[in-house]
Amino acid sequence: MKDQITLFDLVKFNEIPDKYIPEGVHLKNKQFWCPYCSNIVVFKRDKKSGVMRCPICNISNKDFWVKKINKL
Ligand SMILES: [Zn+2]
Repeated sequence: MKDQITLFDLVKFNEIPDKYIPEGVHLKNKQFWCPYCSNIVVFKRDKKSGVMRCPICNISNKDFWVKKINKL
């Protein structure tokens, strides 16, 4: 049986999160910088837990660095 490919396998997840939003990145309304996958993302609400999560790497917006870098 083939192993299922999950989104995690396709994304580089930063073990050391970004400390700053890179220069030249301009976030629009509802966009955030994800410090773990280094992408501009719109966090999606997780229906089960009610927290907002990055649609790419699944980190929640309760994470320290997500809050810090986006000034939440
Ligand atoms: Zn992410």
